This record gives sequence, C-alpha cells and structure tokens, in this order.
Amino acid sequence: MRPLAVVLHYRRTASYGLNVLLGALEQELGDECGVEVLTASGIDEALAGTADALRRGFRVLVAWSFYSPEVSTIAAELARFDDLDDLDDLDDLAGAVAPAGEVRHVVGGVHATAEPVATLAMGFDLLVAGEGEEPFVELVRALRDGQPIGADGSAGLWWRDEHGAVHRGPPAPRHPLGRYPAFALRRGRYNPIEITRGCVYGCTFCQTPYVFKARFRHRPVPDVAQHAARLVASGRRDVRFLTPTALSYGSPDESVDLAAVEALLSSVRAATGATARIFFGTFPSEVRPEHVSVEALRLIRRWCDNDNLVIGGQSGSERMLALTNRGHGVSEVERAVRLCVQEGLQPNVDFLFNLPGETAADAAATVELARRLVALGARVHSHTFMALPGTPLRDAPFRPLEPSMREELERLSSQGAAYGSWRRQEQVAAELVSIRPRRPRRRHDG
Ligand code: SF4
Repeated sequence: MRPLAVVLHYRRTASYGLNVLLGALEQELGDECGVEVLTASGIDEALAGTADALRRGFRVLVAWSFYSPEVSTIAAELARFDDLDDLDDLDDLAGAVAPAGEVRHVVGGVHATAEPVATLAMGFDLLVAGEGEEPFVELVRALRDGQPIGADGSAGLWWRDEHGAVHRGPPAPRHPLGRYPAFALRRGRYNPIEITRGCVYGCTFCQTPYVFKARFRHRPVPDVAQHAARLVASGRRDVRFLTPTALSYGSPDESVDLAAVEALLSSVRAATGATARIFFGTFPSEVRPEHVSVEALRLIRRWCDNDNLVIGGQSGSERMLALTNRGHGVSEVERAVRLCVQEGLQPNVDFLFNLPGETAADAAATVELARRLVALGARVHSHTFMALPGTPLRDAPFRPLEPSMREELERLSSQGAAYGSWRRQEQVAAELVSIRPRRPRRRHDG
C-alpha cells in the first residue's frame, strides 16, 4: 500500500480551522506518524503539492474548509483537480499519475455541516460534520492504516461510496475545549486563541449555535495562558481571542462572570509580559450590549490594549430584535455605547441591515439608531443579511437593499462613520439564494 500524504488546502478566509486540525494531528499522531503533511497556500500550491506527492508514490487526502458564500469559488477550485486524471495536458505535472481513488477530498466547516448532502454533491469524497478534530484525526489514521471508511472511526463522517450513495457515521463526541490545541504549535501555524465554543443565544441569522450547539464550552485559563505564551515566544506581539461573545467567558449561561474574565486576562498578561498586546472584545470577536458595564470596561482597560470594543447591536427595531431572538433591546445598545465613550473605548457597533420580515418602519428605526450612535461617538460596522445554511432563516428570500437604506449607508461610509463589507454581502446574499439546494415543499394538511 502506498503511504499517505495529507494536503491542507489553506485559503485566506479559512485558515483557523485548518490550523486547529493540524494541531490535533500533531498532538494525536506525533511527528513520526507515518503520514506526510503538506500545507498549501491557495489552489495552485494545493494542486502542485498533490501532483508532487503522487509523483513520489503517495496516496493523497486533500483537506478543505470554506464558508457558505464561497460555494461557487470552491466548486471551480475542486474541478481543477480533475486535470490530475489527465496529465498529458500538463507538462509541469508530467510523471504524476492519479489512479482512481488515490486522491480523495475531505471537507469540513460550517457550510459542510449545515448542507452535507449538497456539499458532497459538489464532488467531495468525505465530509466532517460539526467539530472536526477527532473525526479528522481518526480519518487520517484509518486511511494511513488502510482501514475501510465506515468501519470503526467513522464518527462525525459523511462519505460517498463508489456508487455515489451517501453514508454517514454516528455523531462525533463533543470534548472539553482544552482537549485539542487552539492552533498548530509545532509548525508555528498561529491564529487567535479560541477561548469559547458554542453559544447559548439562538440568534436566528447566526450559524454558531446551530453548528456548535447552544451551550458554552470554555478553554481553561492555564491552557489559554500557555497558548498566549507560545504566541509571544514565537515573536508575535498581539494576542487575540476567538469567542462568540467575549464577556461570556467562564459563564454557563447568559450571566457575566467578571471574576472569570479577570482570571483569564490577568493570567494571559502574566504569561506574556508587559510588552505583549492583548485584545479582548475586538475583532475577530465581540461583546453583547447588555454585558457591557463600567466594571467590565475598566477590567478590559486594566489588562488589555484595546482602544475599541465591538458591540453586537444588529437592529434599531425592537420588533426585529425580538423576531431574531437577540435577547436584548435597543436601550442596551445605546447604554453600551455611552459607557464605552465614558470609559475611553471607541464603540464599534455591528448592524445587520435588510433582515427578512423587516418593514419600512423597522428599517427606519435601524437607520435612526445608527445615526444616534454615530452622534454619540460610535462607528457602525455594516453587514447585509445573508440567509446562511443551517440557520432558521436559511430559506429566506433575497431582496435588494431599499434605495433609502443604501443611500444612508453610503452617506455614513463617506463620513467614515460606517465600515464593513455590506455591498459585497448583498451580492453574496443573492448568490446564496441562487445556489440554495431545493428542499421538499412542506405539506400543509387541513
Ligand atoms: S450572533 Fe452572537 S450571540 Fe447571537 S447566536 Fe450568534 S454568536 Fe451567539
């Protein structure tokens, strides 16, 4: 049997998840694992790495991860591997031979988890649903050892057999967050440290609680501090965190546990020293508005280097906040912004424009709130609603932004009061609807 090579196909938008898988492989299989692991930046490197591994006599497993808005790009990239079956046309790959079954493609991530059948139909052979660490490690182990897929070790996997039929294993177990590293320590593939996974809030537009369960799992403080120390020891100065809601750290529910947050931040500071820069509640994470308090802001200012805070506001309509299950009202958003300004942090407020079911009055209330917050000193981080697979709003129809809303966003952007990818997201929202898998119509009896 030929040995196995794993090609991790890194893309700009999907590197964190692959770092985590690489870290899990490093931890579980070790350096002498009998598998050659290649990291490829972009499709050209992934193709070249695959061809080279084939030429050297390996079987290849190519690992992919992507987000819903990238479906058409990924389908085109995946199709480029078909050329490996017809190498006569490719001088630079001459000598590489891809006998049937020698190159397999495995995909994971939130889109794959939400739409496994449609994702496999794009041409992938295998799919990891939900949390990927254990299923991916077990898949690599099984392929390395020549074990058939579908025997032991198929938890969390979906796959197509040689006839194209789709099969699935049992759900993979969910482990405590500290079970696997937050990035690939040995290979120096770093990213923000994931301190919390899952979310107890059920905002209807968001994939997080539906993919990772509506429950928090927090990485233990010593584990986070150790990761932070490794980051800084590697020459990086900035320590950032991945979490759905930063001030929920240490809490099992909607409450805030500031003692847990302080234990986290003080330990990270102790582990990284005075010259490291620690950012909490900023990109790529945020805080919920009702969690913002003077005590929380002072704690952040004491231990961190933030000059801003990202607050989830989403809508200025009480009706839309309730409809989307946000769990807070408009007044909490205004209060959070006032407190940030008072305590010397620039508030950046996430807004989600064009929500399904939004009336002209709802849209006007959102624009009005954005104006009020800007007048208080906030910046508006503008997003356009996208019907994301796996969410309760996945089947919402596309509708373009109202001209008046577009004008207001342009005006705020030109003043520097708003930023964000709302124009691109509007295009993606239309594209997502156009590629949406058809679902059986619901029967309405009676
Ligand atoms: S939007 Fe934020 S708070 Fe709401 S479910 Fe998603 S991660 Fe949780």
